[in-house]
Amino acid sequence: MPSHEVLNQPPPLEDYDPLALDGALSEALRREGAEWAFPEVSQFGRRTASRQAIAWGFQANENPPQLRTHDRFGQRIDEVEFHPAWHELMRLSVANGVHAAPWRDPKPGAHVARAAMMMLGAENEFGHGCPISMTYSAFPALQRQPDLLEQWAPRIVSLEYDPRSLPAAEKSGALIGMGMTEKQGGSDVRANTTRAVSLGKGEYALTGHKWFCSAPMCDAFLVLAQADRGLSCFLLPRWTPEGARNRFHLQRLKDKLVRDDAAGARAGDASLPAPRGVRQEARRAAADARRAC
Ligand SMILES: Cc1cc2nc3c(=O)[nH]c(=O)nc-3n(C[C@H](O)[C@H](O)[C@H](O)COP(=O)(O)OP(=O)(O)OC[C@H]3O[C@@H](n4cnc5c(N)ncnc54)[C@H](O)[C@@H]3O)c2cc1C
Repeated sequence: MPSHEVLNQPPPLEDYDPLALDGALSEALRREGAEWAFPEVSQFGRRTASRQAIAWGFQANENPPQLRTHDRFGQRIDEVEFHPAWHELMRLSVANGVHAAPWRDPKPGAHVARAAMMMLGAENEFGHGCPISMTYSAFPALQRQPDLLEQWAPRIVSLEYDPRSLPAAEKSGALIGMGMTEKQGGSDVRANTTRAVSLGKGEYALTGHKWFCSAPMCDAFLVLAQADRGLSCFLLPRWTPEGARNRFHLQRLKDKLVRDDAAGARAGDASLPAPRGVRQEARRAAADARRAC
């Protein structure tokens, strides 16, 4: 029922060019060598500031993800179900390379241009930025192990968002999450107690419990575990090379401020009863992987 005529409300801020209004960001693009990226950053910004994308952000946050630990026959599936609006936001960011553009096309200013897009995307909706940011920041860790990189890079740099829960080899695009933190080991990950036991041929069985597992619907995870020579970083695929679900079990989605993010802000609490992971021969892998996260 109308109450009274209101004359002093501004129109909704939508369908505009947020880069054009952001003097500091525009200056940073020029100053840091990414002037060439103005057209694509501006175009992406206009998409994220569109009435449509703003609505997706509201819908994704009003309909938080659901954890599905089992299917209706009682088999474990450990999947996270998202509202379609969340998938639209993911599709938009992946299609514009916010998760991997500098790795697809390394050139001066590429990281700056991506960072600008990340900021503009976050101005609309922050939660979906977690898997986007993780995938970007996991790449340097994979670069330290060329056989893994060869296997995973084509799908990570793909501009196709493929949310299906399938072995990565059957997908057109893959995303990477992270499980580093344990209850007793946040800032100091050396306190991690998850164990890694060699199965030979570079494969390890991991046993432990993670307190944070960001983006638990991703295709693989960087996971820290104690190996024979100390803490190391492993790539834990959601599916085994034989096409079975890896034994990666989610216990809950955390209840955090960003309502639509099953990752980081609303991270899964994963237990790892000896799933199979592949070792990263990288001292600084974890540090690399966590930059930008
Ligand atoms: C948005 C978000 C996303 C996240 N994403 C991930 C993820 O993807 N994967 C993942 O594994 N984890 C993730 N985390 C968890 C995050 O990595 C931990 O929260 C972080 O490492 C801090 O650990 P903690 O919370 O256990 O705090 P603690 O380590 O217990 O620290 C508590 C406080 O003590 C201080 N402190 C700790 N150690 C020392 C010290 N030696 N000297 C002085 N002060 C100290 C800290 O500065 C802090 O103020 C995420 C967290 C957030 C908030």
